Amino acid sequence: MHMKAIAFYEHGGIEVLQTVELPVPDVGRDDVLVRVRAVALNHLDLFVREGLPGLHLTMPHILGSDIAGEVAAVGGEVTGWQAADRVILNPTLSCGTCALCLRGEDNYCRQFGVIGEHVRGGYAQYIAVPARNVYPLPRGLPFAEAAAIPLVYATAWRMIVTQAQVRPGEVVLILGIGGGVSSAALQVARAMGAEVWVTSGSDEKLEKARTLGATQTFNYRQEDWGAAVWKRSGKRGVDVVLDNVGEATWSSSLRTLRTGGRLVTCGATTGPQGITNINLVFWRQLQIFGSTMSTQGEFQDMLRQVERGRLRPVVDRVLPLEGAQTAHRLLESSEQFGKIVLEVP
Ligand SMILES: [Zn+2]
Repeated sequence: MHMKAIAFYEHGGIEVLQTVELPVPDVGRDDVLVRVRAVALNHLDLFVREGLPGLHLTMPHILGSDIAGEVAAVGGEVTGWQAADRVILNPTLSCGTCALCLRGEDNYCRQFGVIGEHVRGGYAQYIAVPARNVYPLPRGLPFAEAAAIPLVYATAWRMIVTQAQVRPGEVVLILGIGGGVSSAALQVARAMGAEVWVTSGSDEKLEKARTLGATQTFNYRQEDWGAAVWKRSGKRGVDVVLDNVGEATWSSSLRTLRTGGRLVTCGATTGPQGITNINLVFWRQLQIFGSTMSTQGEFQDMLRQVERGRLRPVVDRVLPLEGAQTAHRLLESSEQFGKIVLEVP
């Protein structure tokens, strides 16, 4: 049995992505074989394609962490799933048996991994994954929208709910609202009853953020956003800042927090060496949280809110699987708002 896939044999630019025929993956006794129907892109795909320090892949590699599809077959030990069940996959991999996994802290597992990053992903007609990563697709959700959910909403959920513990009425400032995690975090923070302020370099993206419920917007190309946020908060500061920008914004993010405020980060796209004013940290009693992906429990809590219609994935556009190169080009240019999804034939 063979399948169509988009794969690469060496790291590099967009041109390394090739349409290929590969064997359908073997199904282990604890695995589910999923017929992929839609797969969404993440910035992670671009980083993995280009190559990451310490990441040694078995070639050819298949990208794709965000997957929705149907059960095609199940391993001998798997119960509860049947062929044609509509499913969505949690991209966070763990051993499932260590003390951390058993405690529900599976994203601290030493065997932590991500589908599409450390193992082959979903730019293909089939993928075999551990059964514990398979969840029922929320009712009524089309595959293309479902694929836009897992990585960004699970990441945003852990940042807002578990790490920052956002409470109703608090002000959450999200930097760079065009990104997938940012637009997901906007909705999660709103679902928690928070007020959301956002920054972007594009008025168009700020306008879209307003339609998603952002109440204050700051264009960092037109004003000193840190000073503007401080002023707008009545010189009190905001309760929480989500900063995935990194070096370029870090010191301003800390300065815009109120006493007892929290900063959460899951990335540093402009570089990792932000300046931290330690006086500010102890005097204002700030808390800084790092966050990566989510636990199985957080994934489940997040999906429940999708089922209830409180979180609705933002899809920028849907392309055919063969359009993977075009999709990467679009994501690299950062012109999108929300997710770019590939439909798998
Ligand atoms: Zn483990």
